[in-house]
Amino acid sequence: MTIQFYNTLTNRKEPFAPIDDSADKHVYMYNCGPTVYDFAHIGNFRAFVFADVLRRFLELTGHTVHQVMNITDVGHMTDDQLADGGGEDKMEKARKRLIEDKKAGKLPDGALGDPDDPFAIARYYENAFLEDARALGLRIADDPPLHRPRATEHVPQMQAMIRTLIDNGKAYVADDGAVYYDVSRFDGYGSLSGNTLDKLRGGAGGRVSDANQAVKRNPADFLLWKPDPSHIMKWDSAWGEGYPGWHIECSAMSLHVLSQLAGRELTTIDIHTGGEDNIFPHHECEIAQSCGCTGADRFANLWMHTRFLLVDGEKMSKSKGNFYTVRDVLEGRVTGRPVDPAVLRFELLKSHYRSNANFTAKGLEDAASAVTRLRNAMTEADAADAQAIPDATAHPVVKAFAASLADDLNISEAVAGVFEWLRSDAYDPHEARIILPAIDAVLAVSATPDTADDADVLCAQLDAARGAKDFATADALRQQLIDAGYDVQTTKDGTVARKKLA
Ligand SMILES: [Zn+2]
Repeated sequence: MTIQFYNTLTNRKEPFAPIDDSADKHVYMYNCGPTVYDFAHIGNFRAFVFADVLRRFLELTGHTVHQVMNITDVGHMTDDQLADGGGEDKMEKARKRLIEDKKAGKLPDGALGDPDDPFAIARYYENAFLEDARALGLRIADDPPLHRPRATEHVPQMQAMIRTLIDNGKAYVADDGAVYYDVSRFDGYGSLSGNTLDKLRGGAGGRVSDANQAVKRNPADFLLWKPDPSHIMKWDSAWGEGYPGWHIECSAMSLHVLSQLAGRELTTIDIHTGGEDNIFPHHECEIAQSCGCTGADRFANLWMHTRFLLVDGEKMSKSKGNFYTVRDVLEGRVTGRPVDPAVLRFELLKSHYRSNANFTAKGLEDAASAVTRLRNAMTEADAADAQAIPDATAHPVVKAFAASLADDLNISEAVAGVFEWLRSDAYDPHEARIILPAIDAVLAVSATPDTADDADVLCAQLDAARGAKDFATADALRQQLIDAGYDVQTTKDGTVARKKLA
């Protein structure tokens, strides 16, 4: 089976060839992660779920995936569509908003701490992100913290890169004291986005900053270090007390952490992902910085970008009232009743990553019935004896599922194949007991990890109480499960709890 992915860098599908050709097939992947200044919205999570499906598919096909997703907790500006960044730091914006919220008595909850402390804000929303990520079955949430580097904890690595770029003439200190990248000194500028310097001079997209034109050599030069002693988060540096630019964060953290995981210095990584809005300027600048520092031809061999998520056919926006966080959906503020996290996960993964997904209430209902169908098949399969299949991945149903995903992660074809098999005469619950877990290793909709674990514990306690003829306790535990939204059944193997779907 040849695995092919569409590479934004070359604008075509290419066979996937990891740098490491050992038997363990190590893959080094970096995903641009959340900026922790608010609860993540479902569009953010479409990109994160995509990265998770990609990782799980590569694991299904025998790769050892080293996934790193950064936590941006400083330096991401509100006008990030400008090469140079502009506006104010999103953490500052959050601080102002939360101080107002506190005055109005509507802070999210007591766990936030002091809304005047940007670090407390960042940790609060980072934890919220992790809760959402766990609920939606993202493996990265259960990896050691090393895999989720915080920008604020990698400032020395960023400064080292900036120093190298200055030393090799690719960066300069301007009259305003800030350090900029001189894009005219990097031949490959524009290779990812098509925004070459010629085009940018012609005003392509209008996406170069004019805020600091007076001090920059080229309009497209972008910020590496901003001296600003009044900034809410600041560090000492040779260029004055200040803070790093957003783009340098990802160059520094990706190479530093993935090298740590590899046990050797990497100058090229296998995969870099992000949303389509990251292509320019963010990823273009990352390439200029990383290759400018290491001298490598390529920073990432494969660049994969998810298209925007639409809501009811329109771009999400606060002013249109169609801007939903993950919590809004899960807690029932969108459809009027709580939504099972696995259903939201399925809804976010079911359309191809390179097409605009359209989030609708009807889509969620369809996702709920698909998840129910899969779970029912799994329950039925669990009750059947496993038939000896030496390796699930050798079974035609799993092979077909993997083959679809091997074609640039064609998820809709992969899922359609599974449902066709469930409906077909070939379906056999004995075989399904082996096949479905392999498929669920990628889809991850059989159970939401946290709640499933809790429910399993309660079921075991219930069975123990019943065995001891302590029926009052057994009844109380049963009620506890029902109150938590579970369907509770007594089977010959003991009590089974399944989360009821919205
Ligand atoms: Zn990034």
